[in-house]
Amino acid sequence: MLASFTAHLNSSNRILVLIGAGLSASSGIPTYRSASGFWRTFSDQQLAKKSAFEEDPILVWQFYNYRRQQAKAALPNPAHHALAELAARRPELFSVNQNVDELCQRAGHPMGQIVDLHGSLFRVKCFDDACGYEEENHEIPIIPQLSVTEPPGVLDSADYNSAQSGVSIEDLPHCPKCKVGLLRPATVWFGENLPEAKVHQVDEWLQDGKVDLMLVIGTSAMVWPAAGYIGRARNAGARVAFFNMMEKAAGVARPEESDWMFLGDAAELVPKAFEGFLGVDN
Ligand code: NAD
Ligand code: ZN
Repeated sequence: MLASFTAHLNSSNRILVLIGAGLSASSGIPTYRSASGFWRTFSDQQLAKKSAFEEDPILVWQFYNYRRQQAKAALPNPAHHALAELAARRPELFSVNQNVDELCQRAGHPMGQIVDLHGSLFRVKCFDDACGYEEENHEIPIIPQLSVTEPPGVLDSADYNSAQSGVSIEDLPHCPKCKVGLLRPATVWFGENLPEAKVHQVDEWLQDGKVDLMLVIGTSAMVWPAAGYIGRARNAGARVAFFNMMEKAAGVARPEESDWMFLGDAAELVPKAFEGFLGVDN
């Protein structure tokens, strides 16, 4: 199986990569459907949404400060590095990244060949969409009083409320453009649309020609439109390789979609699968 994959990889130029949380799992960032994907007793689904921010922006900022600290402390793993190297050697490779941790970029993935479809933990934007302000923000934490270093589950949410943090809404960062709106993380929350320009970028890449190979790494591929990219790449001629811990969670809608299934930790399997390619300088 590896030999046929290596042969195809070596003859592939237009490669589409779909990246999910499983790529960063062994870097210590929990996937969001895993049991450890919780902060205190809140799940991502409870806090990563507009209504949660409207209800308690202090709590949501604490959650994001925790996630920023976690992502900042994490290191890119061998799979991030192998992918970055492959991308550098295949300028037509394009990665659609659902992760918000910037670990691909930190591993050196060429910037022009990756789109962060779900945004980044290290960007902020105005809560008022009509204002449109957005910028990079790598300061950790964005609000010192909201530094939260304890691991998830240490505090019990039942008797926690954000008033105890000693932070008021006025202390939260405000938009420098309109001066009225609060800044919020520039990540795509549940129930929100993906940024049109980014979706358009993927569409254009897909329409640009035949696709040789698609790599689906560590994603359950249940979220639209990411889920649809596999079928579209296949229709454009791609053979598809999946990398996942579990076959039934790998995002394979129909068995015929999978040409190669690499089962196990992406951090081990991706570099292994690319060995034959990376060994050859072509
Ligand atoms: P998901 O949690 O739905 O799926 C993760 C997938 O990775 C599963 O299929 C799982 O079987 C697989 N997996 C787990 N550990 C793995 C490993 N070590 N090696 C290989 N595969 C492994 O995540 P998703 O599909 O990325 O869902 C998308 C959503 O998750 C997005 O909204 C994204 O923004 C969000 N998210 C991102 C991060 C991050 O930035 N690292 C972390 C959590 C959630
Ligand atoms: Zn604003």
